[in-house]
Amino acid sequence: MGAIVAIVGRPNVGKSTFFNRLIQRREAIVDAVSGVTRDRHYGKSDWNGKEFSVIDTGGYVLGSDDIFEQQIDKQVELAIDEADAILFMVDVEAGITGMDEDVAKLLRRVKKPVFLVVNKVDNAKRAADAVEFYALGLGDYFTISSINGSGTGELLDALVQELPETKDEEEELPRFAVVGRPNAGKSSFINALIGKDRYIVTDIAGTTRDSIDTKYNRFGFEFNLVDTAGIRRKSKVKEDLEFYSVMRSVRAIEHSDVCILIFDATRGFDGQVSNIFWLAQRNNKGIVILVNKWDLVEDKQSNTMKEYTKRIKQAIEPFVDVPIIFISVLNKQRIFKAIETAVEVYKNRSKKIKTSELNDVLLPIIQHTPPPAYKDKYVKIKYITQLPTPYPQFAFFCNLPQYVRDPYKRFLENKIREHFDFTGVPITIFMRKK
Ligand code: GDP
Ligand code: GDP
Repeated sequence: MGAIVAIVGRPNVGKSTFFNRLIQRREAIVDAVSGVTRDRHYGKSDWNGKEFSVIDTGGYVLGSDDIFEQQIDKQVELAIDEADAILFMVDVEAGITGMDEDVAKLLRRVKKPVFLVVNKVDNAKRAADAVEFYALGLGDYFTISSINGSGTGELLDALVQELPETKDEEEELPRFAVVGRPNAGKSSFINALIGKDRYIVTDIAGTTRDSIDTKYNRFGFEFNLVDTAGIRRKSKVKEDLEFYSVMRSVRAIEHSDVCILIFDATRGFDGQVSNIFWLAQRNNKGIVILVNKWDLVEDKQSNTMKEYTKRIKQAIEPFVDVPIIFISVLNKQRIFKAIETAVEVYKNRSKKIKTSELNDVLLPIIQHTPPPAYKDKYVKIKYITQLPTPYPQFAFFCNLPQYVRDPYKRFLENKIREHFDFTGVPITIFMRKK
């Protein structure tokens, strides 16, 4: 689980320019988390081998100038809640503005690491101009140019030093995140799991941030529920429910092993549900899909579940090897099954297949159906091994890795899934030179 870094600041200081530089040539995790915006405002970065996620909060908090004050409060509040470190960006060209002062005031009270970043320092003269930002009362600052990259190395050195260490994965209980759109039934599901009296064993002091994992012991399983900050926030921000639910999902997914994705059967597996699904998939998390409020679906015929399943699978192609369970939290129907399945998916995600077993199974298949020749070149796959990563990744060693195309990789993935149970778990396939 990586740390989260938030970039805050008023419009036009260069937040998105810097953000794009940070996640350069990296796949952004989502390009339209929930339709809040079409741009990419959430991505992965790393520096000195330390991986972290970056949120350009400005990209989420939209609004015209007149309501901007409110918006920037929200932006900062979000950063304070969700991030491990905050980059507060200001613009040397413009100097200190009233809005900068407002943000500084909010940030002076924050206990998390805050970095004052003076942007657009493209030359030495501007570096001298930056001294005025001491007046914001946030101490030392970093001068950078998001456009030409100068100063960014020093900033990132300091930043990653302040980020919490990635937790050791071993000896940990499964971490399940309950995610989905507002009103899907997440809180009800969690309450049903907890039962009124027999819940919560301990809070696990995880990282430097407030602990968000809560340990449960139910149905004979021990697991951590990755609770979402949003649950306590819910009543406060009715109008922004969707927006907060997205941010909650991002955070909860980051901190989980398995995402329990709940949606409302009467509303369907829509684009926003898909976005959360792909967010989990691209983070290599295990996934279980719960079709909730099954009690409300009228006229259930023998093939109604089949029809639903088909539609969901269409939405999640090609990663369709995912458990789909029809539940009613209201009637406590199949709640146990849901947790049991999440535990299975957790086990699948940490499963390690022996190299000998992999090769015994896959090499004959590959021999029978080798990669198609490409530009008259024949690819020979020599052996396969599962990498020692927290989630399943397989390396296929061959003479010409660059000639193996995606369809063949999908074929290999399907064969792995046919012979070994990786239900609910994304698989990565690498072709490596040997
Ligand atoms: P945001 O609204 O804070 O996300 O700001 P943008 O990233 O959209 O940048 C606003 C404007 O400032 C754009 O025209 C950028 O090209 C410009 N800009 C961003 N970073 C720099 C920089 O380091 N130097 C200069 N000179 N301009 C910059
Ligand atoms: P959240 O926003 O995802 O946490 O959703 P809630 O747990 O607050 O549930 C939203 C609404 O759906 C509440 O009125 C619940 O009582 C209702 N609800 C949750 N699960 C079920 C269910 O299985 N069947 C029915 N009929 N209603 C449900």
